[in-house]
Amino acid sequence: MEEKKDIKSITLPQLTEELTALGEKPFRARQIYRWIHVKLAEGFESMTDLSGQLREKCIQTFLYTALEPVKIQESKIDGTRKFLFRLPDGNTVESVWMKYKHGNSVCISSQVGCRMGCRFCASTIGGLERSLLPSEMLEQVYAIQRITGERVSNVVVMGIGEPLDNYENLLTFLRILTDENGLHISQRNVTVSTCGIVPRMRQLADEKLQITLALSLHGTTDEKRRRLMPIAEKYSIDQLMQACAYYFEQTGRRITFEYSLVGGVNDTEEDAGQLAQLARPLACHVNLIPVNPVRERDYVSSTGARVQAFKSRLEKARVNVTVRREMGRDIDGACGQLRRNME
Ligand code: SAH
Repeated sequence: MEEKKDIKSITLPQLTEELTALGEKPFRARQIYRWIHVKLAEGFESMTDLSGQLREKCIQTFLYTALEPVKIQESKIDGTRKFLFRLPDGNTVESVWMKYKHGNSVCISSQVGCRMGCRFCASTIGGLERSLLPSEMLEQVYAIQRITGERVSNVVVMGIGEPLDNYENLLTFLRILTDENGLHISQRNVTVSTCGIVPRMRQLADEKLQITLALSLHGTTDEKRRRLMPIAEKYSIDQLMQACAYYFEQTGRRITFEYSLVGGVNDTEEDAGQLAQLARPLACHVNLIPVNPVRERDYVSSTGARVQAFKSRLEKARVNVTVRREMGRDIDGACGQLRRNME
């Protein structure tokens, strides 16, 4: 028997084709797509304006991917919630829901585990199990909107995994997430964060989406960056900056640099000066993240005074800079603290 298609992972034109092949009218595809991506239906059973026969046909033909929330933790500090979801194959991933004045933001995972090996990050411990399907990325957003009962307005792909190491699925996910026939999250409210896979950054630029690309820089020389991130062995800072310039050229969107401040490693005045030199020509926004504790690692965060000095140095160079407010640190929900295991 042919394998069932994952209905939540296909775009509206593809769904229209599928249903036409089943002898259905095109408007049925719209109707079903709406149930899946706007009304966030939990299964074909709830699609009450379809005939019983059509629902049955769908159940026979398609898979309906759902995630099971197995644990929800809420931060006492800021109300951030961390969700542990079980995927259909039994693997688990984490997602984070953050409430801001301007709306609710969800941070999603793109893979089960990660093979990039950044030394300060918990998500990479245990390596990569597999990449997520578009449906599994979408469903993190949908399930959270269903559970909280509040609209999600921003999505950041900054959870477990390297999104550009799962390129095709990421792109389908982005297309469906921002589709005007679906949940219709504005592309400008979506951020994809990468450790810097240069050819994929260029490919993404060519898609000409209006999303924000965030580059995890963390070091201003190849030598320093290599100490923290194995990917730096493969691509130089020079190549990275050219790819960033290309992204800006193609999309008109400014790049964000993420820079985790690790005490005694990358937080000197000199580092700040070099960072300013990289950020200025590209008019990048710099987001400083005092490194979050991961129990298997012995990195320590820069002191508050160092963080401030670092920030001032950038400001003096007229770089647009913010210190990321760490949300949900008490529930291990902050950057680099997500992991695929439940323990
Ligand atoms: N793989 C992607 C997205 C996931 S990580 C990437 O590398 O960008 C999201 C951000 O958190 C990245 O900038 C990452 O480097 C940073 N990060 C990882 N571990 C961290 C930690 N312990 N403290 C602070 N930031 C961390």
